[in-house]
Amino acid sequence: MSRTTRRGNNQESPGAAPDASEGSEPPRRSASLRPLLGLKPYVTRHPVTLALAGVSLVVSAVAMLVIPLAVRRMVDLGLGSQDGLFIDRYFAMLVAVGAILAVASAARFYFVNWLGERVVADLRSDIFRHIATLGPAFFERTHSAQVMSRLTADTTQIKAVAGTALSQALRSLIMLLGSLVMMFVTSLHLSFLVLLAIPVIVVPLIAFGRLVRKLSRRAQDTLADASAYAAENLSAVRTMQAFSHEQVASERYRAEVERSFEAARERMRARAGLTALAMFLVIASVTGILWFGASSVISGTLSAGTLGQFVLYAVFAAAAFAQLSEVWGEISQASGAAESLIELLAVEPEIRSPTNPVALPEPPLGAIAFKNVRFAYPDRGKTAALDDVSFDVAPGKTVALVGPSGAGKTTIFNLLLRFFDPNSGAVTIDGVRASDASLEALRARTALVPQNVALFADTVAENIRYGAPNASLEAVKKAAVAAQADDFIRALPNGYDTKLGEQGTTLSGGQRQRIAIARALLKDAPILLLDEATSALDAESEANVQKALERAMKGRTTLVIAHRLATVQKADRILVMDNGRIVEQGTHAELVAKGGLYHRLAEMQFTAEAAE
Ligand code: ADP
Repeated sequence: MSRTTRRGNNQESPGAAPDASEGSEPPRRSASLRPLLGLKPYVTRHPVTLALAGVSLVVSAVAMLVIPLAVRRMVDLGLGSQDGLFIDRYFAMLVAVGAILAVASAARFYFVNWLGERVVADLRSDIFRHIATLGPAFFERTHSAQVMSRLTADTTQIKAVAGTALSQALRSLIMLLGSLVMMFVTSLHLSFLVLLAIPVIVVPLIAFGRLVRKLSRRAQDTLADASAYAAENLSAVRTMQAFSHEQVASERYRAEVERSFEAARERMRARAGLTALAMFLVIASVTGILWFGASSVISGTLSAGTLGQFVLYAVFAAAAFAQLSEVWGEISQASGAAESLIELLAVEPEIRSPTNPVALPEPPLGAIAFKNVRFAYPDRGKTAALDDVSFDVAPGKTVALVGPSGAGKTTIFNLLLRFFDPNSGAVTIDGVRASDASLEALRARTALVPQNVALFADTVAENIRYGAPNASLEAVKKAAVAAQADDFIRALPNGYDTKLGEQGTTLSGGQRQRIAIARALLKDAPILLLDEATSALDAESEANVQKALERAMKGRTTLVIAHRLATVQKADRILVMDNGRIVEQGTHAELVAKGGLYHRLAEMQFTAEAAE
């Protein structure tokens, strides 16, 4: 139904691709249907439904093809013989065929759409599971909106095809071939006439259709030019008015719009001509064939029933052909969608667990070491983000990373979490090279408290449970108490069951941080990676967060990207970074006494804080 309206403006040009709808992005198309084959495993995974769909498809087509046969016999034998019983029997049979047709069509609809929905559901899960394993490098190349559109728009397009379009195409194909065969069986003479008529109709239509499409594209392009001009000027409306350019701009826009009207008029003229031509050719050919058929009936070489039967088959064939050309555009669009989905599924994660991972020592120690690590981000060529970085952190110690923005502090975290592998040198945790351990085991040893806390649209309890999905509510509460979060969580409308996130309750910066700390505490990893928030909290939140952090750091190895005086003062050691290198290290007092980069940074960064 919706398809007929969508493609309604296209019905005069059979076989022509539908116009891209105005204003929207033109659909991607694939020239070949090969990419659709990539979806085969998703379909063949459900052999029973596939078989049921196939059977109902064939049964409904055959039932449809039987009807003209019945009609002929009824016209020739039934109506002629005036035999009441015969007519009764035939009508009963027609009803039976109708019943079969109805059931088979319903079954076809159900099974085919079931397959479509199933394929898309499986595909969506697979794509998400796959994308979730891809590293940050992938997400830097690919915008998440693009991935979302793959997950929703592209898969929906495939659903349309795997569901309705493909079954329509198959049914139409069966109907077309069946009707053609039956046309020849019914009357060779008339069939040959039809064969003669086809090129007479189709060739001019194709040529004309091409012209119409070319004109449509031109009309669309001129409209796009006009819109671009309008958008550009309206977005700079102050400049336009400041320079009293309104008059000139309006004139120019009017001219653009006129141009687009001219293009549209040409297109409509061509399309009107095409409609007239198509109608005339079809009606003339059909009339011609019918005239020949009627003369044959009169001269007695053809029975009236046979003529009726032939006409019905011809109508079936024409309808099937029309439908085939209609779904063609859709199928080739879906093929384009399938192509990009399959491409996406084929992206290999850069970072993966080794096949034979080295076991990390038990119980965990919490020791970190960087040895001559050199690393450049994949898209930065030779510009090193870390240049010959070596340091180690003994279990239980706290080390602060300090340095100007862009120095490489976050990069150290990225390598520790093994989002990337170093170009040379080694990152080890508990004495095992990060790339030799299993990713899961490696990441289980670290808990990250990021600067920008990500909360999910779920309950507070689930948000805390993020890193330990099986933790009991008791454990969640214990972590929240330790993170100084229990009090404010209890005060929320539904306590631990309060929904957070987009439609849920929003939390203050300090509260978010305490949720993140509770999350890290619950994960109970030996190493804490802490990216201190740069934005200032009010004094009370600050005190709460500090207290929570102290609890979290107790008994853990902590690496902290420090922005606060209190943090650096308490650290066992400070690494001062600049341009990817560690340029100084020592305690706060030592480094201040040294009067180097740290001293300058500390003066700029911490004096204001100290003054408060
Ligand atoms: P810091 O955390 O000290 O501010 P980073 O470790 O984030 O510094 O950055 C170190 C260098 O690496 C900078 O030059 C930065 O531009 C670059 N860099 C950081 N992240 C990426 C990334 N994802 N892709 C490419 N370059 C990056």
